[in-house]
Amino acid sequence: TLSDRLTSVLQNLRGKGKLSDADIDATAREIRIALLEADVALPVVREFIKQVKDRAKGAEVSQALNPAQQVIKIVNEELIGILGGETRRLNLAKNPPSVIMLAGLQGSGKTTLAGKLALWLKKQGHTPLLVACDLQRPNAVTQLQVVGERAGVTTFAPEPGNGVGDPVDVARRSIEEARRAQHDVVIVDTAGRLGVDEELMRQAADIRDAVTPDETLFVVDAMIGQDAVTTAEAFRDGVGFSGVVLTKLDGDARGGAALSVRHVTGKPILFASNGEKLEDFDVFHPDRMASRILGMGDVLTLIEQAEQAFDQEKAERAAAKLGTGELTLEDFLEQMQAVRRMGPIGNLLGMLPGAGQMKEQLAQVDDSHLDRLQAIIRGMTPAERANPKIINASRRQRIAKGSGVTVREVNDLVNRFFEARKMMQQMAGRFGFGLGGSATK
Ligand code: GDP
Ligand code: MG
Repeated sequence: TLSDRLTSVLQNLRGKGKLSDADIDATAREIRIALLEADVALPVVREFIKQVKDRAKGAEVSQALNPAQQVIKIVNEELIGILGGETRRLNLAKNPPSVIMLAGLQGSGKTTLAGKLALWLKKQGHTPLLVACDLQRPNAVTQLQVVGERAGVTTFAPEPGNGVGDPVDVARRSIEEARRAQHDVVIVDTAGRLGVDEELMRQAADIRDAVTPDETLFVVDAMIGQDAVTTAEAFRDGVGFSGVVLTKLDGDARGGAALSVRHVTGKPILFASNGEKLEDFDVFHPDRMASRILGMGDVLTLIEQAEQAFDQEKAERAAAKLGTGELTLEDFLEQMQAVRRMGPIGNLLGMLPGAGQMKEQLAQVDDSHLDRLQAIIRGMTPAERANPKIINASRRQRIAKGSGVTVREVNDLVNRFFEARKMMQQMAGRFGFGLGGSATK
């Protein structure tokens, strides 16, 4: 994964105050590979990398994260920003009916989306009308009617036996029908071709002019990868659109199409489709898509949790003490609490990249065990916590009694503390900084 590759690229960086130009260049290469693997279009990759580089240059190496994590954090934030930051809501007209028109290549998922959107709107108390303006393919109208039935909404279609019918005329009449039958949203399904062609564009533009949509949604299959850019440009120039819907995210596409389309057209992604069922549909979440493109949800979660749990001041204090071997039981307790705040230890261990020894140590400590350890430390006097060496046999007995544990448990804790202190000193030497690096927890 990108995480592993960045970690190896940035190995020598630990302990430096800033990312050097060489480090940033090496990092940029790895990010570039990751984005290309996610099917992001090349020109988009180039511009994105430039942005990330600029930002990485000014960044101080954080205390909470190791350099690889920090670069990933920057990349992730930039991605979320480009993908739209906050989720953009559907624009509905003040005076109903609102008109939503769907455009896109054949097979991109327009008809399925019409049903999904209708169901989604219906659940919010709207009364959508589906409109069949794909009169190209023989089964297109029936398909929309089936989808409409499943969603429990009405479908407006040309009467059978009237020949092929004119999609523009159907679109126009559907608005009158919506007014008459009090549908507050009209969803217009249009025809698509396998490739972009002029006739298709002209027809879509004519339908658009007939119904003046409040939203024109460009529906794009996430699996088409690099082609998303050319298709999006063609629809932008031929029909124009106000938002994007990404479909087939249940496939193995990493979602680079999202970044490409968003970057090239500047239009927001409103919805994401991830399956054939009508419920497989949600508003678009830029943060989820970013972690999908980077292919490392776990690492991102870990970064977030590490930052939340991290108390800069305390950690700096502890880190400063590490080198001199002055870590106290008080610090030990604080560190354990910080680790606990990061969630169940089991989850955490699964996400930690290469914290070998520490993993083994922590693996023996479950949450209830931590509670007992904390109780023991609380049973100590401040002098004992600050200088555990003075904890002799009689003190151990007193502590055990006071915290309701056996003397053996107190012994274990004290021994474990001395072991941990030794280990942390070694790690501090190796990584150049102390407890602040979440990978060392
Ligand atoms: P249209 O030609 O743009 O109207 O596309 P359709 O709605 O007919 O969809 C084409 C095919 O893709 C159908 O077999 C759908 O069941 C399928 N499909 C649509 N959306 C999704 C999706 O999000 N995930 C998956 N797996 N299949 C989808
Ligand atoms: Mg269709």
